[in-house]
Amino acid sequence: NLVAVALEARGAQGIPRSSGLADDRFVHDGQITKRPVRALALSALAPRAGERLWDIGAGSGSISVEWALCGGTAVAIEARQDRAVNIRSNAASFGLAHRITVIAGTVPEALAALEVPDAVFVGGGLDAEMFDAVWSRLLPGTRVVAHAVTIETEALLGELHQRHGGELMRVEIAHAGPLGRYRSWETARPVVQWSAVR
Ligand code: SAH
Repeated sequence: NLVAVALEARGAQGIPRSSGLADDRFVHDGQITKRPVRALALSALAPRAGERLWDIGAGSGSISVEWALCGGTAVAIEARQDRAVNIRSNAASFGLAHRITVIAGTVPEALAALEVPDAVFVGGGLDAEMFDAVWSRLLPGTRVVAHAVTIETEALLGELHQRHGGELMRVEIAHAGPLGRYRSWETARPVVQWSAVR
């Protein structure tokens, strides 16, 4: 079937240039920033070649991978050992093992030995204490992007926005899913994104 062969060949042609790669390009256990929201995270992080990211609560490492694809380096810090294994596997399968340092450990403790970053993404474990520990280590001009899915973390982002400015955004995405013979919108949990410059 020539059409199938042509389509497969097209699909095999490398990695798309835009951020927000399909979730199934990553090994993950369900804890992954989903494609459309990940695209918004990368947009706010604004990666440039040669820059360093701290990816805090890195999960599958999908943010680190997409950052490194833009020419930077990432330090992916993840509390769970099994997920740190996934991050290494994802970094390797994208050919980015040399650009992504994986730390199996918890923030803030794991930050002690790290060189300062150009940008920080906080995708998990954010609370006031962790924030203060991270923020106090950053140089002026560092971009900070944090996502919240719980009401508690959302409240913290509301305070941080008031204190430090930046942009606070709430994203509600719905996908069409089956409803009997029809389709209906299935709304994902809202994600709140705060982005600011130190
Ligand atoms: N952005 C990730 C998903 C993050 S899920 C991705 O796209 O795959 C949030 C992660 O934060 C979880 O894996 C959790 O284990 C981790 N985490 C929570 N608190 C943490 C802490 N204090 N330090 C490091 N990792 C933490």
